[in-house]
Amino acid sequence: MADFTSLPLPAGSVIGILGGGQLGRMTALAAARLGYPCHVFCPEVDAPATQVTNLVTRADYLDRFALSHFAAATDVITYEFENIDLNAVKFLESECDAVVRPSSVVLAITQNRIFEKAFINDLKIATVDWCTVKTLAQVQQAFTQMGGKIVIKTAMLGYDGKGQVMVEEQERLPEIWSEFTRIHAGISLIAEKFDPFESEGSVIVARSQSGETRAYELVENFHQDHILSETRVPGNFTAETKIRAEEIAVKLAESLEVIGLLAVEFFIRADGSLKVNELAPRPHNSGHWTMDGAATSQFEQLVRAIVGLPLGSTQRLYDTVVMENLIGESVNQWPSRLADEPEARLHLYGKTAVKPGRKMGHVNRVK
Ligand code: AMP
Repeated sequence: MADFTSLPLPAGSVIGILGGGQLGRMTALAAARLGYPCHVFCPEVDAPATQVTNLVTRADYLDRFALSHFAAATDVITYEFENIDLNAVKFLESECDAVVRPSSVVLAITQNRIFEKAFINDLKIATVDWCTVKTLAQVQQAFTQMGGKIVIKTAMLGYDGKGQVMVEEQERLPEIWSEFTRIHAGISLIAEKFDPFESEGSVIVARSQSGETRAYELVENFHQDHILSETRVPGNFTAETKIRAEEIAVKLAESLEVIGLLAVEFFIRADGSLKVNELAPRPHNSGHWTMDGAATSQFEQLVRAIVGLPLGSTQRLYDTVVMENLIGESVNQWPSRLADEPEARLHLYGKTAVKPGRKMGHVNRVK
């Protein structure tokens, strides 16, 4: 195990990454630039992150033998998605004496919408109105109290719009409820008031072991079919809204005692008021613009935070940066559409199977 009393970890110290997706891949590439090899732990064959390092453990997240070896082979561990099994992270921390950043406490809160929203509300930070729902009677009551338009969501394991359904017609509620609870049997559920927001935005904040924080500016996010399609920087918000969003993000990172990154997603009304939608304790798709558009990319910032280097500048380097996700078949257009465009910076994730809705890569356009 690494000696965390004399930071930063020396070059050559190994960063463990739980998860083999594109976020792990881009973290490993950023780490390599700073002299830190990454060891990727994931069950899949040929996962994007495993293509950029020769240190790979392919095993199930609950394989304790493999986890112990992984802990022994790494100096600090992070994770690249928050639906990782909490027991795996707790095992690494308690049984293997591994340093996991952000900690299992942060993961436990952020991987469960109920814990997450309760934590946010306890800090007097606004979310949309929400409540847990266990029965049809409770969801019917929520529907009435919340003004006749709600979103039912699973408390855990939802992403890209999966695990949620909107309800607008009371007479359809019993049918929707019975179908939703059949598909998501055994998972806690919440009902949220539908928010008539003007736009969606996010702030990514880094926090180091010493408690230093650095936030990237509030960016504006556009979705298609519940999947992020584009991030525009700067977002079309007033300076006041941007400052307020950064303050909220920093307060959340400090209160959670995150060491690493925290992404904070917001619903933003026309009057500039902000509601926190959800949190992610990891690099975030809406932060990909930083790879070409900011002084320090979010991936480098994560590495800096977890190895004990000073955090980097979050300053934007261009007047505008637009990140476009290449989803599904759209990736096949890149040779004709993007290869010749001088402002386009292309990032592909090495995924061979193209599927609808699958994030294959992204392009940053800087001006
Ligand atoms: P989530 O998985 O909670 O981030 O939801 C995915 C997307 O669904 C959000 O980015 C919003 O576009 C939309 N959405 C989720 N919850 C609500 C809500 N309560 N009101 C309005 N739109 C929502």
